Amino acid sequence: MKIMIKAPAKINLTLDVLHKRPDGYHEVEMIMTTVDLADRIELEELRKDEIRVVSHNRFVPDDSRNLAYQAAKLLKERYGIRSGVEIGIQKVIPVAAGLAGGSSDAAATLKGLNKLWQLGLSVDELAELGSEIGSDVSFCVYGGTALAKGRGEKIKLLPPPPNCWVVLAKPTIGVSTAEVYKNLKLDGLKHPNTEKMVEAIETGDYQQMCRNLGNVLESVTLKMYPEVAQIKEQMERFGADAVLMSGSGPTVFGLIQYDSRMHRVYNGLKGFCDQVYAVRLLGDGIPVE
Ligand code: ATP
Repeated sequence: MKIMIKAPAKINLTLDVLHKRPDGYHEVEMIMTTVDLADRIELEELRKDEIRVVSHNRFVPDDSRNLAYQAAKLLKERYGIRSGVEIGIQKVIPVAAGLAGGSSDAAATLKGLNKLWQLGLSVDELAELGSEIGSDVSFCVYGGTALAKGRGEKIKLLPPPPNCWVVLAKPTIGVSTAEVYKNLKLDGLKHPNTEKMVEAIETGDYQQMCRNLGNVLESVTLKMYPEVAQIKEQMERFGADAVLMSGSGPTVFGLIQYDSRMHRVYNGLKGFCDQVYAVRLLGDGIPVE
C-alpha cells in the first residue's frame, strides 16, 4: 500500500519571545498559518523492518537526522510496528528557510503512518507525539491557523485569516534557527501585539492583520544577513500591503490583496531572488482521516 500526503509550509504572522526558561528553551507566543506551498510525502510499506528516506534534494538528510525519519521511528517504537517504510520526500518548500519544511514533513509522516499502520490515533495524540520531534511539528499536524505558546507545542486553533496572496522570497542563504535564538537579546525587543492579531483574524479585518505583523527574530537575522533587510525593502517598494520575515528567516513574505499588485511584486522580486513564490493562504487545517 502506498499513501501520498501533502506537507504545507507555514508563515508566522507574529513571533514573540517572552523569556528564556530554566530548561533552556525560549517561551514563545506566535501565530502561524499554512500556505499553499507544499512538499509531497509518499509512504510505502516495506516488508523489511527498516526506515528508508528517499529525497533527491542535496540539502535534505536521508538518515536519522531527517525529521520525517524521526516521526516514523517514534511511531514504530511506541506502537511496536515490525514492518518498514520508505518515505519519499518531493521537496518544494525551500530548506532552512523559516517555513517549517522539515516539521511539516514530520507531521505529514505521522498522519500518513497513522493511516498506513492503522493506529487510530487522534489529531491531538499525533500533535502530542509531534512535540517530541520538534517545536513546530504539533502545529503542522493541525495545519490551518493557530496561536502557539510554550516552546510552540501548546496550540490554540484560530479561524482562517482574511484571504490574500502571499509572495515569498528566499535569498540563497540558509539560516540556523538555533543560532538565531542564541544571538537573541531579550532586552529592548519590540514585541508584536499578539492579541490584536488574534482579533484581526477573528473579525476578518485584513488591514488590522497587516498592521500587526511582527517578528522579534528580525532583530537578529536582519543584522546577520543584510540581504534579508534588502528583500524586505524591495517588497515594500513594489507595493506589498505588509511585509515580514517568517520564523528565524531568511524567507520574507508580503501580504497582498489584489492580483495586479501580486504580479508586480512577484515579477519585481524575481529580478533579485532565485526562489520567489506567489501562493494563497490555506486558512483551514488538513483533516486527519
Ligand atoms: P523552522 O521554520 O521550523 O525553524 P526551517 O524551515 O527553518 O524550520 P527546515 O527546512 O525544516 O528549516 O530545515 C532545517 C534543517 O533541518 C535542514 O538544514 C536539514 O538539515 C534538516 N532537516 C531534517 N529533516 C528535513 C526535511 N524533511 N526537510 C528539510 N530539512 C530537513
